[in-house]
Amino acid sequence: CKLSLATLSDVARTAAIPCYDRASLKAGIVHFGVGNFHRAHQAIYLDDLFNAGTDHDWAIVGAGVLPSDAAMREKLAAQDFLTTVVEQDNNKTAARVTAPMIDILPVGDPAAIIARLADPEIRIVSLTITEGGYFIDASGRFNPAHPAIAADGQNPDAPKTVFGLIVAGLKARNARGIGPFTVMSCDNIPHNGIVTANAVVGTAALSDPGFADWIRENVAFPNAMVDRITPATGQREIDFLRDNFEIEDNWPVYCEEFKQWVLEDKFTAGRPALEKVGVTFVPDVTPYEHMKIRILNGGHAAIAYPAALMDIHFVHDSMEDPLIRAFLAKLENDEIIPIVPPVPNTSLTEYFALIEHRLLNPKIADTIPRLAQDGSNRQPKFILPSTLDNLRQGKDVVGLALVSALWCRYFAGKTDSGKDIVFNDASAERLHAAALKAKDDPSAFLVFDDVFGEVAKSELFRKRFGHALKTLWEKGTRETLQLYLDGKL
Ligand code: NAD
Repeated sequence: CKLSLATLSDVARTAAIPCYDRASLKAGIVHFGVGNFHRAHQAIYLDDLFNAGTDHDWAIVGAGVLPSDAAMREKLAAQDFLTTVVEQDNNKTAARVTAPMIDILPVGDPAAIIARLADPEIRIVSLTITEGGYFIDASGRFNPAHPAIAADGQNPDAPKTVFGLIVAGLKARNARGIGPFTVMSCDNIPHNGIVTANAVVGTAALSDPGFADWIRENVAFPNAMVDRITPATGQREIDFLRDNFEIEDNWPVYCEEFKQWVLEDKFTAGRPALEKVGVTFVPDVTPYEHMKIRILNGGHAAIAYPAALMDIHFVHDSMEDPLIRAFLAKLENDEIIPIVPPVPNTSLTEYFALIEHRLLNPKIADTIPRLAQDGSNRQPKFILPSTLDNLRQGKDVVGLALVSALWCRYFAGKTDSGKDIVFNDASAERLHAAALKAKDDPSAFLVFDDVFGEVAKSELFRKRFGHALKTLWEKGTRETLQLYLDGKL
């Protein structure tokens, strides 16, 4: 049946439904970016809390600034802002209908959005607007010269960006003597709170530097580490839900069973009791971010290239291959986990065991081309810092240098069986040219200072990298991985 509040009792035949009365909810949060991740993550934690019978004054009001958000609004409004979330573990699929969102504000109507932001009911403004939504340049700094931000600086009363709207909302509250809301980013960016603060303060400074200073001093921007694999929704997912659960949902969300949210406890105007539903509140998220970037994202960045060179398409298939699985385990145990600083109440080996389990999940159907994309940004964030830490501690880097060599071999453009590789990387052209030269002269690939930085200055790294690359060309990926596993590379 078609999903709506009126059909919930029918839906309950195949899926879990909320045990709270939607009419009992009151708005507490405006959320920008009602995409898939938000509905699989923050909205689920709130749904759990509301199901537990508490905090019903923290319902979500959605907001957005892109044309695609207007389309999403129409689709969700047609089903009373309900969302079916399909959680898929390795051998279990369960559907639940969630109802923590009570409205989505009209897209392209700044006055309506600012009015809602100025409503004293709203105590948190949260964001999942993708990494690209923060107007940061290559060095990670906020770019106030971006035309969209500059335009909001010129027209602070009719802003078009998320940050312009937040500034206008804070200003309207100030004018009415209402204290500020907390601004809480849930995007996958290290120190996302700081990045968000810089964007909000940087936007305010263009029209009112005094108010920018006031924001810096009075508004909380907690940092957060968020994790839950949530693929995009396509027709296949919509059909699967209809065929297997008899639910017609305009935009269901599919995700893995695992989820994690580590959040700094800095809130200007209170917060829901999220600790009751599994959110970890900490004074500093840095160790958790570090663990995730080095072990999970680093793991992704390590298996992508051997799998691609061996013509493997799905992540779970790569982990079913004994060579790749053993390669990742040895790399993590020998060269990554030992240099990750301790994380409170966490065993890093158990964390990695859980990641192995998650990567083996066939239902998520995550792909190697997705992991292999954007290596010119990912290798320097996820792999090379581990390489540098080992080198600084006088340790060997056989495995991490092999990861760099596999990445270089991949950029030569053909898999081991001779198939063409399609690159998805802003720097593909220069990497491809260098990778071809590196077949005869490995140092040709190490010239990119923005990627390799200090690592390329290490004689030990250059030696290990050159030897691994030569072996990959001479013996192929499989045999090279085997040599590494046997300690003979
Ligand atoms: P999505 O495409 O479903 O949704 C993205 C949302 O961001 C949309 O509402 C879109 O309108 C908005 N957006 C995009 N660019 C914007 C901009 N320039 N300004 C304002 N809004 C903008 O994607 P998703 O799966 O929901 O992922 C969103 C983000 O969530 C990711 O970029 C990441 O930071 C975080 N995240 C995602 C996952 C995941 O597995 N999907 C896991 C952890 C964290």
